[in-house]
Amino acid sequence: MNGPNEKFVLSLCTKTWIRDSHGLFDYESNQTKNLNAVLAESIYIARKKHEIKTLNHMNDLREDEELLFNVKHENKDEYVLENKVPIRIQPTEKNINDLSNKIWYVLKNDPIKSNNSTQTIVNTNDDYFLCKNDVIKLGRVKYSLNEINIPSRQNNIDRSPPLSDLSKYDIDDLNKNTEPVFDFIFQAKDSSEYKDIPDDERICKICYSEDNEKEVNPLVHLCNCNGGLRFSHFECIKKWMETKLQQKENDKKTVKSYNIKSFNCEICKTPYPFKFKLNGIEKPFELIDLQKPSPDTDYIILESLNQMKENCNIKSIHVIQLNDEELTIGRGHESDVRINDISVSRNHAKLKYNKEDGTILLRDLKSKFGTLILIKKPLLIKEKKIHLQIGRTYIEGWLMGMAEFEKLRKEKKNKHINKQQQQHQTQPHQHQVQEQDYMNNPMVNNNAMDIEEKNDAQNTHYPSK
Ligand SMILES: [Zn+2]
Ligand SMILES: [Zn+2]
Repeated sequence: MNGPNEKFVLSLCTKTWIRDSHGLFDYESNQTKNLNAVLAESIYIARKKHEIKTLNHMNDLREDEELLFNVKHENKDEYVLENKVPIRIQPTEKNINDLSNKIWYVLKNDPIKSNNSTQTIVNTNDDYFLCKNDVIKLGRVKYSLNEINIPSRQNNIDRSPPLSDLSKYDIDDLNKNTEPVFDFIFQAKDSSEYKDIPDDERICKICYSEDNEKEVNPLVHLCNCNGGLRFSHFECIKKWMETKLQQKENDKKTVKSYNIKSFNCEICKTPYPFKFKLNGIEKPFELIDLQKPSPDTDYIILESLNQMKENCNIKSIHVIQLNDEELTIGRGHESDVRINDISVSRNHAKLKYNKEDGTILLRDLKSKFGTLILIKKPLLIKEKKIHLQIGRTYIEGWLMGMAEFEKLRKEKKNKHINKQQQQHQTQPHQHQVQEQDYMNNPMVNNNAMDIEEKNDAQNTHYPSK
């Protein structure tokens, strides 16, 4: 029983996939290195290859170690995991990859529909209801929920899921009413803002004209090219992108998908923004013409974050109409929202819309690499276990009352002594040494920490190349 004044420790179980592939964690693999820790103080958690380490100070972090998060313990029962996410930055390829070592919420597996999976992890996270500006990761492909058009949702503020679906973990507080991580509307400059540039460099690199109709067809600088290659007309880029655009619709005609394989400048390879704005002009310019449903229809828009493949930026935008029917997301041809990437499972996730309360549920279908939601706020750990992922490390965290911790420790000690007695009968000389080791265990001395490394037998098998 946990009284009101009881002290708590933070329990963490981590599994690190021994392969390093795009910061993915393979939920079907046994090739993980596991570590269990019990913490009672503020500390930093870092990863070195597939080892998880604790550090007392940020300054202890070495070059070959990656910081995963810091644990803040200021009140007796409060443990907060922190790994700050930058807010409103321009989406370059580099900073989007940086998100891989942030804290992600692991969506719940569907318990009914796909029980043929080989996953060993039982995810007990609460169901997740999408919020505006959520960053969703399916395999290695990341999307931002940039638009929610549900007229019945007042002002389109994020609504809480129905009370019956809320359990002890305050899941709807994870990202509710948070700012977007990336500024998807790029602040651009047109040629009139570059006063120092000679006239012969103020030309469109596609049509060579120097016209600049700022309102309708501005001559803009959207990439990292310099000199005479700096500018292009809005309409010239748009027409060029249209030649590469692949448009698809699902069978139910509720999802329109727009895919462009190299949505970037041909010369410097800088990804183009889907939307940009210019000083003095309110309406943003859009490089892809989306066919949106009428404004009184419920729909959402998912825009992929930049993803470079062989120097090409893969862009996809899905305009998704919401109705009573569930929508599937996956690599399979029959998926409503189709994502053509090898790290996405054929049947990866599904969307379920509840028209009555305007909530959108996203659920994983036991996908190989999981469906994740970027957590933007510091995360308060509670007694109910939460399932998280940071790059190729999967983490379970929960609070444990001191009484329970003491009980576990006693059990473990007894087990240990029993083991020693058994060993003592066969190997009498080892007894003293082992007992000494045990007494030096920091857990026994000061309750601070018990870090135990579990190396399952399978874990020693490394994948062949
Ligand atoms: Zn032009
Ligand atoms: Zn360029």
